Amino acid sequence: MAVFAGKILRDSDFKRDVVEKVVQRCLLVFGKEVSESFVSCIQCGMCTGSCPSGGRTILNTRQIVLSLNLETVYRYFDRSELWYCTTCYTCQERCPRKVRITDLMRAVRNIAVENGYMSKEHRAVIRYLYETGHSVPIREDVKELRAKLGLPEVPPTTHQYGKALEEVRKLMEELNYAQYGEEG
Ligand code: SF4
Ligand code: SF4
Repeated sequence: MAVFAGKILRDSDFKRDVVEKVVQRCLLVFGKEVSESFVSCIQCGMCTGSCPSGGRTILNTRQIVLSLNLETVYRYFDRSELWYCTTCYTCQERCPRKVRITDLMRAVRNIAVENGYMSKEHRAVIRYLYETGHSVPIREDVKELRAKLGLPEVPPTTHQYGKALEEVRKLMEELNYAQYGEEG
């Protein structure tokens, strides 16, 4: 038995429910051709072989696509590899079966987040965004370098314009996005 989205489900129903949620999310955001594309996978491995992140981490893209077909994708919710994808779209462009891998990966992450899973690194990025308006805030050594080059210490972004930062924060709060910057 498992609890998912507030419901107690038999394991087999739970597995199917997770995949169904991924499909529905893809349908909503990307359309039908994305939502069901994983069934066309022939396990050729082109995605894994092309993945720049997979060359340096344990991310195995082919296995994540396989897990959608086997209804075991929920197992990735609390595993680091789901978060190692940089959404570069290389795999999606190269897939001979036109599986919309990156879009699917994003939907899987969406559903993982809704169930309370998110890597601490992604939470940190959200926190930086909320605090500074940048996912990669400017560092002190970069400020010094800018000053040496005769530039203003910070660029003309939210670093300079407090009002723009307030707007970023408001947007993040209204979308309930800011909450994910908190420690999980
Ligand atoms: S490249 Fe496409 S067909 Fe090949 S394993 Fe990856 S998703 Fe499946
Ligand atoms: S989109 Fe993600 S999984 Fe695909 S090649 Fe890029 S990093 Fe790898």
